Amino acid sequence: MTTGQDLELVSLTKRYGETVAVDKIDHHFRAGSYACLLGPSGCGKSTTLRMIAGHEDPTEGSIVLGGSDVSWLPPAKRGTAMMFQSYALFPHLSVSDNVSFSLKMKGVEAATRRKAAGEMLELVHMTDFADRLPDQLSGGQQQRVALARALITNPQVLLLDEPLSALDPFLRIRMRSELKRLQQELGITFIHVTHSQDEALALADEIVVMNNSIIEQAGSAREVFNAPKTEFVARFMGGHNVIALPHGHFAIRNDQVRLTEMGESRIAGKITGVEYQGAHVLLNVLAVGDQEITAIVPEEIFFDNPIPPDTDVGLTWDDHALHPVTA
Ligand code: ADP
Ligand code: MG
Repeated sequence: MTTGQDLELVSLTKRYGETVAVDKIDHHFRAGSYACLLGPSGCGKSTTLRMIAGHEDPTEGSIVLGGSDVSWLPPAKRGTAMMFQSYALFPHLSVSDNVSFSLKMKGVEAATRRKAAGEMLELVHMTDFADRLPDQLSGGQQQRVALARALITNPQVLLLDEPLSALDPFLRIRMRSELKRLQQELGITFIHVTHSQDEALALADEIVVMNNSIIEQAGSAREVFNAPKTEFVARFMGGHNVIALPHGHFAIRNDQVRLTEMGESRIAGKITGVEYQGAHVLLNVLAVGDQEITAIVPEEIFFDNPIPPDTDVGLTWDDHALHPVTA
């Protein structure tokens, strides 16, 4: 079984003319971790991934894998592999030949290729489909073939750019757990680019949040969700309010805002909307200072004492629920 190597990005920068796609980012990806690069469209995720893969040259900075600078090595010589979208499969080649294509390029003989492809197909549970053509497979099955094709090169780091975005919601969740299982089984580093918070929270040992070409915050999924350091991370991760108080700006989870008697409230407001969401009820409150605050209340608690829109309410929370954020 292979073990991954640490991957380090050092002051990594990419400019396209006047556009700065990636701006001097530094990051250390731990060997054998599942990392998600998370951020809105255009923030520099794919460019970062393509530089790691060697499909794009850095303008400045370097990429260090297992202690060696790989910044200028060709993609196949780096110890990284990129999983391309399933539509990049060769339509005229069988599943087995698609998977072993890179070995053919290296001059590996047919019987060895077939055997290696067989092992990879077993890994992704596609053994029975070895002789099919790609268009005889479902989207999810094609995705598994694309994975097997990337893994056959025995990479230290597997790079995945929005690997689940083409799948329907049901398959997306199935493939998501498959990816996690594979990463754990192989023990190599996965770097998975996504703009979906749910996906990153479900998968990642470490979430690296990007915005405007830089890394805003990196940490475990729980850390990034529970203790966002910037207003952007709090809003982007969702589930939080950003509240302006006399002593600064703070993030607070929606489910840690409680309704209370006016006399005991930390901030007063008026209910502007009530949404039933099954297990809980979501309340929109317009608070002092024109601040929109969302509170999530367990459904039994809300329906013990239902409150209609337009009611004046007080809001409170525990001190430890507040996290200072910078703008
Ligand atoms: P993301 O994957 O986070 O959506 P990208 O890394 O694709 O973002 O793009 C980051 C920025 O770099 C964007 O402003 C994009 O328009 C720009 N960009 C990406 N690729 C190129 C390119 N080949 N030429 C010029 N600009 C590019
Ligand atoms: Mg992208």
